[in-house]
Amino acid sequence: MHTLEKLQILSGAARYDASCSSSGSKREAASCGIGNTSSSGICHSWSDDGRCISLLKILLSNDCRYDCAYCVNRTSNPVQRASFTAREVVNLTMEFYRRNYIEGLFLSSAVMLNPDHTMEQMVSVAETLRIEEQFGGYIHLKIIPGSSSELVRKAGLYADRISVNIELPSEAALQRLAPQKQKAGILEPMAFIGQEIKGSLLERKRSRNAPPRFAPAGQSTQMIIGASPESDFQILKLSQGLYKKMNLKRVYYSAFIPVNEDSRLPVLASPPLLREHRLYQADWLLRFYGFTAEEILSDEAPDLDETFDPKTAWALRHPEFFPIEINRADYVTLLRIPGIGVTSARRIVAARRFAPITPEGMKKIGVVMKRAKYFITCSGRPFEKTDRQPALLKSRLLLAEGVAPEPPKQLVLPGLFA
Ligand code: SF4
Repeated sequence: MHTLEKLQILSGAARYDASCSSSGSKREAASCGIGNTSSSGICHSWSDDGRCISLLKILLSNDCRYDCAYCVNRTSNPVQRASFTAREVVNLTMEFYRRNYIEGLFLSSAVMLNPDHTMEQMVSVAETLRIEEQFGGYIHLKIIPGSSSELVRKAGLYADRISVNIELPSEAALQRLAPQKQKAGILEPMAFIGQEIKGSLLERKRSRNAPPRFAPAGQSTQMIIGASPESDFQILKLSQGLYKKMNLKRVYYSAFIPVNEDSRLPVLASPPLLREHRLYQADWLLRFYGFTAEEILSDEAPDLDETFDPKTAWALRHPEFFPIEINRADYVTLLRIPGIGVTSARRIVAARRFAPITPEGMKKIGVVMKRAKYFITCSGRPFEKTDRQPALLKSRLLLAEGVAPEPPKQLVLPGLFA
């Protein structure tokens, strides 16, 4: 099979992996132009400093021995199969890089003969790129669950980021939908990677001559949302544990897209994209806003609000916390106010060292006043002299977002209309 044909099959098969955030762009040049983002396997990801980088996103192979219910590449599906050799991936990466199409490589794979056999070839790609080709661009390697620690260690030495997909939010779901994968086979390499990252950071602090950093861009994982019945609370608690215990940089949530007919899978009218979006917002609160999963959700209210973002929903449930005086509150308290983000909270703390902040100053700082104004005072004065009843606040916030609030429900007196 020609390399370009393989590229079409294996870049198409890689598009379901969300842990390399693809823009999903579909643009083809006119016949006289150059460039094509539709079939080349190029996706866009964001670096830590916010830069958009182009990556060649492909699978080494889609010829899988496993039969995960949710996956298009499962062994029982009659799809066209293809596999690259390690050398082919190296050549493609170098050719794309030299032509300035990409800044790096995102390489994942189906399980070919067994996890170690597959991982060996993926590591060989990264090793050849770094050692033979002296490639200094970005490399993200997926770790195949069940691969040996030696191969995982090698992967972390050559790649910038490595990731093991946790796949599903519970062991029960894993057993039902991906019975050939074991929870231990996923969590053990994650824990190992977490320790190696910490260890190599310490070594670099102690000595300049320490070996290069292990996976300097950290480790991430991906979880499928909506293929199994776990609540958002279960999912957030799992993510919280992964951030704390496994030293994870990022958990990616991927709304379940039905690609197979399988009685073990739920029938959904459409992929749960709003749920995925709310989970990303809640995840942001865990990582940057000092919230815990238990503050955002509970056993009694285990799913995220569809109408409001998780921080506004929290503020509406905690009227006792507000209003907050903008000229006195500390940084952590400012972060609890809807409409105030990390940047605007920092700017508020910096600006008020010189003079109290005025209402006009708030807008200049970048505070989203249509949300924040219901929850703050500025030098003792409220912005909105409004009734602080949660129901009223809700309808005002909805109106501010351009959503018509639900009409008030008429009271039905017992026995009157029965
Ligand atoms: S291991 Fe499972 S999820 Fe991965 S490619 Fe194979 S069938 Fe798909």
